[in-house]
Amino acid sequence: MNIQIRQWMPQGWRPFLRGLRRRLRAAFYASRSAILARLAFLPRRYCPVCDTFSPRFQDHPINGRACARCPRCGSLERHRLVHRFFTLKREQLFRPNDRMLHFAPERCLVPYFESIPSLEYETADLNGKKAHLVIDVTDIPLPDRSFDLVYCSHVLEHVNDDITAMSELYRILKPGGSAVILVPIIDAATYEDPDITDPNERARLFGQHDHVRRYGLDIVTRLSAAGFNVQLFSITDIAGEDEIEIMGLDCPGCREIFLCSKH
Ligand SMILES: [Zn+2]
Repeated sequence: MNIQIRQWMPQGWRPFLRGLRRRLRAAFYASRSAILARLAFLPRRYCPVCDTFSPRFQDHPINGRACARCPRCGSLERHRLVHRFFTLKREQLFRPNDRMLHFAPERCLVPYFESIPSLEYETADLNGKKAHLVIDVTDIPLPDRSFDLVYCSHVLEHVNDDITAMSELYRILKPGGSAVILVPIIDAATYEDPDITDPNERARLFGQHDHVRRYGLDIVTRLSAAGFNVQLFSITDIAGEDEIEIMGLDCPGCREIFLCSKH
């Protein structure tokens, strides 16, 4: 059919039609790029912590990790993951008139805990400007069986004597209470060496200049030895693939949450 059309087409038309075809093709690709550029500005990320949609998450302000930080509340992947976890476990973890202690409180999560009705919520930190109570997690100046819920995230990897810290967390929990504990998990086995004190060596071996060890999944053994009944929740237990993508929950080393119960 094409051959027949070409046969009958006047010779002078052919360059004109070739040019027209080039212009139409260029217009199509130009409009496609414009449409895609517009789509890039549509909200494609959702932060469950501040309940906000945004076009993208920001890169991490210190290490530059791509798409890590919510531009509104400043949450990172692990904050959004643990927020998701607390939301899923809300009925189990936040019972009426429960008392909760939050160590090293992350500013983006504080409003969430404060918003839970009837929860008696307190924060603790070595730095008194950041929390209600000034507390060293290895020597907690509070009575036994004081709290129903303890949340302690990315603290233990900074603590020299984490075994004592775990025992202290266990001690201050009431029977039936729970501790939600997060640490960076890098390997299967924990690696530590108290002789390594140089910040550069710590950064190289433990992942950050002020970390004193690199935890593995065998942290479960340490937590169990402190008395806890430990349940491990991985990121895929907490969120589906689409949620992980849209909420930006995935971050290497921050895919596990340990729910530690005291019977
Ligand atoms: Zn946010």
